[in-house]
Amino acid sequence: MCASTVKTRFAPSPTGRLHLGNARTALFNALLALCEGGVFLLRIEDTDRERSREEFLAGLVQDLQWLGMTWQEGYGSGGEEGPYRQSLRAEVYGGDFERLAEAGQAYPCFCTPRELELSRKAQRAAGRPPRYAGTCARLSQDERDARLARGDAATLRFRVPPGRSVVFDDVVRGAQRFSTDDIGDFIIRRADGSPAFFFSNALDDSRMGVTHVLRGEDHLANTPRQMLLLEALGQPAPAYGHISLIVGEDGSPLSKRLGSVGVQELREQGYLPAAVVNYLARLGHAFLQNDLLELDALARQFDLARLAGAPARFDPAQLRHWQREAISALPPDALWEQMPEAAKAMVPPDQQALFVETVRENVLFPGELSHWAERLFAEELALEPEAAEIVAAAGQVFFDAALQVLDAAPEDFKAFANGVKAATGKKGKALFQPLRAALSGSLNGPEMWRIYQLLGPDRVRRRLEAARNANE
Ligand code: GLU
Repeated sequence: MCASTVKTRFAPSPTGRLHLGNARTALFNALLALCEGGVFLLRIEDTDRERSREEFLAGLVQDLQWLGMTWQEGYGSGGEEGPYRQSLRAEVYGGDFERLAEAGQAYPCFCTPRELELSRKAQRAAGRPPRYAGTCARLSQDERDARLARGDAATLRFRVPPGRSVVFDDVVRGAQRFSTDDIGDFIIRRADGSPAFFFSNALDDSRMGVTHVLRGEDHLANTPRQMLLLEALGQPAPAYGHISLIVGEDGSPLSKRLGSVGVQELREQGYLPAAVVNYLARLGHAFLQNDLLELDALARQFDLARLAGAPARFDPAQLRHWQREAISALPPDALWEQMPEAAKAMVPPDQQALFVETVRENVLFPGELSHWAERLFAEELALEPEAAEIVAAAGQVFFDAALQVLDAAPEDFKAFANGVKAATGKKGKALFQPLRAALSGSLNGPEMWRIYQLLGPDRVRRRLEAARNANE
């Protein structure tokens, strides 16, 4: 399916933490490369000096690593086309700016932000889409030189050739056609000398040998600009694929409305990386297998033809589904390791394995292991209010009978419950709820036979006594 020469990339700007939309973009690119032993590259697009931060960069790397993604080339991994931080690539870009300017394909623009804003307003008022009016495109060479010599601040604009169509085959959305007459001349170098996104992003993809760019559909309109730029420089363009954005349940863009759905937040809530990866992989891509898969298994099934063009809806219930799957796939000792130290200390060493087996079905987040350690091993069990009500309703006689049955050392919970049933005449809920409430402090939880086995006769006795005494 995928050619072995595939090189994909993730090119985040370190202006914030990794949110689910970006994480999915990274994942799709990683899967496409992994699919046939290609290369996945990480490039840091930190040209916006104001908004880029070192801590965001460290956070992005941490989040990608936590998700289990690896990149064979790029930031932190090295490679022949480095440096892989755009802020360190000024020299690489310098020659291309010059070539474009010398060929007349780019020109200095002296328009101030205020002039540009006024021009945009006027165009909007006239019902036209705002684009650069071309003021500085018409300056004579003498005027340009004079203003540059005077030290006027200038950006560098790419001169878009008029009257042409840019066509390309989007690997997700099919044939695309744009008229260059709808595209205004655009800035490729800011007044402070830093490269603008259109430029450094496209140039780096090309120079770094990227073959496929999968990115959000919000970049679709940028693609014709970037292709024109690469064409002007005689550089090959990668294949582009624009994936649908993730939207919230009400259809609004996820990154804006639910901006807090960050990978870091999910990790802190106790989501496992396998859950997040399996959820994201299915958000806009259909897989044949619906069970929890490792990254390389997902990669084997990854297929550009299965990427959806329609918006992908964020569904927290689905994310929880994958969390459940990921938790049940964890071996017992790995699940144990997820437990906070204070909770670990409550569980006697010889009961660790049994404890994990007892509660795992009832745990969605590792933090809940603490809750169950407390419930099952606390010397003084605090009953939840509903459990306390049930205990009170069952009454002293019920627990006296249960204690007598226990004296006969029943073999297991079944024998114990049958004994209590025979002694009290209670059955069904009236039998099981008070036992569950007294032994676990709660009305919901692991199967009773497991709880009974884990507690052992002494603790069962103490808890039944406590329930009886509560009724005195
Ligand atoms: N740095 C850009 C962004 O984060 C990259 C866009 C792209 O993938 O081309 O939006």
